[in-house]
Amino acid sequence: MANKVFVTRKIPDSGIALLKAAGFELVVSEKDGVLTKDELMGALKKEKYDGVLCLLTDHIDDEVFNAAGKQCKIFANYAVGFDNIDLKAARTRNIMVTNTPGVLTETVAEHTFALMLAIAHRVAEADRFTRAGKYKGWGPMLLLGSDVFGKTLGIIGLGRIGARVAHHAVRGFDMKVLYYDVQRNENFEREYGAAYRDRIETLLPDADFVSIHVPLLESTKHLMNDLRFGMMRNTAYLINTSRGPIVDEQALLRALRAGTIKGAALDVFENEPAIEPLLLELDSILLTPHIASGTIETREKMARLAANNLIEALAGRVPPNIVQAGSS
Ligand code: NAD
Repeated sequence: MANKVFVTRKIPDSGIALLKAAGFELVVSEKDGVLTKDELMGALKKEKYDGVLCLLTDHIDDEVFNAAGKQCKIFANYAVGFDNIDLKAARTRNIMVTNTPGVLTETVAEHTFALMLAIAHRVAEADRFTRAGKYKGWGPMLLLGSDVFGKTLGIIGLGRIGARVAHHAVRGFDMKVLYYDVQRNENFEREYGAAYRDRIETLLPDADFVSIHVPLLESTKHLMNDLRFGMMRNTAYLINTSRGPIVDEQALLRALRAGTIKGAALDVFENEPAIEPLLLELDSILLTPHIASGTIETREKMARLAANNLIEALAGRVPPNIVQAGSS
């Protein structure tokens, strides 16, 4: 019998085509947006699925696994982050969980740099100014920004994405790189002349830009809080393309209002899609709606990788990107 897979939301055709070519029977949610938990559980209970292709907007917990039933062997997440999935519950139920690492690294690193350049050069603010008809001619003091070239970048989490951001910083902008990570990478230090800091507290005071690339874990929630903003330079900028809850949004608001830091650029939010409304009033913040991996090329690769993980797992082979092994 053909394997049956539920896809929780429309994804690029490249992934769907692979699943169909593998002979899978597919049901793709027709809702234009995120299924509520009840809708998701209802959909999973309706049929017997062998696997689920889910997205970072789906909160997959024990109740959802239960709704999927015993024959469901794998939840393939269409994201590198997997903080939306209860891995402990997956382990208990012997359900495999996979993700899509690597294929989005370059795109997220590019987006991080786009945010860094845009906040330092006040690009979005200048665009708003120009569209509002406020541009009356060149001015020596008009909308002055900050250079990126030659400055010091502090990377928090030197994994795949953090390391590529650091690469662009050193090779493209002659920046000095400091990094904090639970794992030291001496090869990287030699190649890029980067300096390791074994505590965030010793990185923050020395960085002109701080860019966050750690996963969301209990240990990284509110990693940036009042105390840590207080350690940053008042000329420094924070960039976050990792996960929203890593930054205490209220503490960020206080830091921006008080001038504790100069600016921030965020792609992710603590309670997304909700955003603290008072942040929207500030010109010192730049916001993008969780699109750091959002290029046509990368989203197609993510769809293919998520599909491949399903295909391999349901064929009884070892899929390329296991984050939690199951019983299959
Ligand atoms: P990765 O696993 O390669 O890198 C994460 C790094 O963080 C590792 O080097 C790890 O040692 C380090 N780390 C883990 N816990 C830490 C801690 N407590 N303190 C310091 N360092 C710690 O992951 P990646 O592929 O570089 O992705 C990083 C994160 O970016 C993902 O977890 C995901 O949440 C986020 N992301 C966001 C988007 C987006 O659209 N905005 C897209 C892709 C990834």
